[in-house]
Amino acid sequence: MARYVERFSLAGRRALVTGASRGIGLEICAVLADAGADVAAVARDPDGLAEARAAVEAAGRECVTIEADLATVEGPRAAARQALAHFGAIDVLVNNAAVSQPQSLLETQADDWDRTMAVNLRAPFLLAQVLAPKMIERKRGKIINVSSQTGIVAIPDHCAYAASKNGLNALTKAMTCEWAKHDIQCNAICPTVILTPMGERVWGPPEKGDPMRAKIPAGRFGRPVEVADLVLYLASPASDMINGDTIMLDGGYTAL
Ligand code: NAP
Repeated sequence: MARYVERFSLAGRRALVTGASRGIGLEICAVLADAGADVAAVARDPDGLAEARAAVEAAGRECVTIEADLATVEGPRAAARQALAHFGAIDVLVNNAAVSQPQSLLETQADDWDRTMAVNLRAPFLLAQVLAPKMIERKRGKIINVSSQTGIVAIPDHCAYAASKNGLNALTKAMTCEWAKHDIQCNAICPTVILTPMGERVWGPPEKGDPMRAKIPAGRFGRPVEVADLVLYLASPASDMINGDTIMLDGGYTAL
């Protein structure tokens, strides 16, 4: 049995992380690189991607930055192909990019619904479709879908987002059903509010944030590094028997 540091190590692994330009995705890039992974960082904002590259290189690892619009059909496919062309193979896919546009059910427009589904649900499917064949061939792969507490329990003004995240949880199980036999593990993480640009935008105003925080037994919102640490565990050999799971990272919100 390898020492525990080896079971949690990503030395020699290559990870593709979407939504790498800020917030949780940027932190995931830094943590995975710190654990030994090279990283393909995907987003639209070149300045944010430059930050991701700096974080990965500061850990002594290689980073390729890939500008892609994940709302399109071709964007995720091209990003996955570019990462494969650069690294030869991808061991870890982290589907982290998402959009959230709080609106009541009655206000939500069809275009907003479609865009939310495209980025939050279709892009993870398309990325996995391009990357999985090589994982199957190599009999090794980790797919980690950053979902949401809202994919498990509803809150007002998040109908498209909640439906997309619930769909992502179902997609995670579908991946496990088909790919577990190829030694690929697929899991979803469901965080509560995390203090990122998205979290601040939606929950920053005290009239919205305070009642939400009061419902979290831990009494606080989460931090990006707390999500990144769970991503690291799910990306590492230490978690090889965990498959098809949706893991809450919610300070106890759904325990009530
Ligand atoms: P964020 O700060 O808004 O960052 C979102 C990331 O997604 C950015 O890097 C953005 O990059 C990328 N993105 C959005 N639309 C894109 C598009 N069309 N094409 C390519 N990339 C796109 O969000 P976050 O808070 O870090 O959230 C990360 C993940 O955690 C998401 O899946 C979110 O649903 C989940 N989550 C967050 C919270 C929270 O409270 N923050 C709670 C539960 C779950 P560009 O703009 O550069 O393209």
